[in-house]
Amino acid sequence: MNETHAFDPPAVPSLPIRATDLVFPVRRIYCVGRNYAAHTREMGGNPDREFPFFFSKPADAVTGGGEMSFPLATEDLHHEVELVIAVAGHGSGLGPEACRELIYGYAVGVDLTRRDLQREARDRGRPWDMAKGFDRSAPCSAIAPVSEVGHPRSGSIGLEVNGRARQHADISDLIWSPEEILVHLSKLVALAPGDLVFTGTPAGVGQLVRGDAYRAWITGVGEVAGRVIGS
Ligand code: MN
Repeated sequence: MNETHAFDPPAVPSLPIRATDLVFPVRRIYCVGRNYAAHTREMGGNPDREFPFFFSKPADAVTGGGEMSFPLATEDLHHEVELVIAVAGHGSGLGPEACRELIYGYAVGVDLTRRDLQREARDRGRPWDMAKGFDRSAPCSAIAPVSEVGHPRSGSIGLEVNGRARQHADISDLIWSPEEILVHLSKLVALAPGDLVFTGTPAGVGQLVRGDAYRAWITGVGEVAGRVIGS
């Protein structure tokens, strides 16, 4: 049967791919909860004992940065700079080598978080969706393809607000490597082309208030910048 949509289907969210005219169509966005020891400690966790855990954001939360309205329903918007894995293959229950083969490229992203809603959800044992998966909550750089940058496993990761350093670390400090993260994730869901995986943030998370401009980078991978506007 030739079905006719009741209205135009939503556009597929996408990110540009560095050094090409192609775009990377986004299917799903997964995020790792805690993956740097110092940040795990600043959030009250124990980095020695906790396995990585996952949450997700809607695909259309992704943006290329730029101006955004201050999000609804929060007075405590936080930035979390993260290495992002871009997946371009299928698989579940995979080992580390197979996971590496699935990686199309890398990006730098910001896991914007309504920390007040997250604290409330955590304290009440409720889901994180509304704390993490809100509109425009996943600014992300262009994808740096493996064909251009290989598999970066060290390099400066940072975020500044209004020109002042807030977060600074090295991606070699990741507790779980990109391959290990995909191994864990592929035990839970089938990975597929278009999946993005935010790999967790280093220490130094903090507030963005109305009018703030941020810039996030990973050396050799890229950068994303934007500004939070609004009344
Ligand atoms: Mn995060």
